[in-house]
Amino acid sequence: MGVDGGRHVVIMGPQGAGKGTQAALVAPRLGLIHVATGDLFRQVMASDSELGREIRRYYDRGALVPDELTLRMLMERLDAVKQEHPDARGALIDGFPRNQAQAEALDRAMAERNERIVAVVHIAVPREVLLERLSGRLICATCGATYHRLFNPPKQAGVCDVCGGQLYQRSDDTPEAVERRLAIYYEQTEPVLRHYTEAGLRIDIDGNQPIEAVTEAILAALRPRVEAA
Ligand SMILES: [Zn+2]
Repeated sequence: MGVDGGRHVVIMGPQGAGKGTQAALVAPRLGLIHVATGDLFRQVMASDSELGREIRRYYDRGALVPDELTLRMLMERLDAVKQEHPDARGALIDGFPRNQAQAEALDRAMAERNERIVAVVHIAVPREVLLERLSGRLICATCGATYHRLFNPPKQAGVCDVCGGQLYQRSDDTPEAVERRLAIYYEQTEPVLRHYTEAGLRIDIDGNQPIEAVTEAILAALRPRVEAA
């Protein structure tokens, strides 16, 4: 990374928007390292570090991990990325910040390190489309094969192609459950998006198009910001 530290990008989007897929596709093409906080939690808890033990204490109680710990975990990872990938421009941060307090804490941490967030990509997908994508999942009760009502339907409704078992819908995947999860997401991220709009960093990408088209749109929007000297 350059002498003035990393040039990082944050990627945001609701469940079902294809955020993780897109992050993995675009990061290498932009000279960024994909850093997903979901993976980080799993890695750090599997490690025997002090931070890992501290985070596990919250997990084991089913409690929310405090923002401060999550931020510390992220910053330690960014330091490690710098060591491991000296030629990378920065990180593509996926999964953080999730609320306004986290966004403000991230700003402060970046300023202290003389690093910067140069763009925040938000993959936007209409709520109805997300509902359709997320609430169509079906699982075979016998062999665990998965289907989708619209995108990958079984040959015979309700019956597994592989084993003839009965298909069911997990309670997390019902339209009501999906609707609830999306409502929470929008409520928490609205202030974060506003925060980054005011900072001039927000880039909205239409996520309601084929995967390749979304990838190209993200690359076209990010290149000038990430590659700028
Ligand atoms: Zn089956």
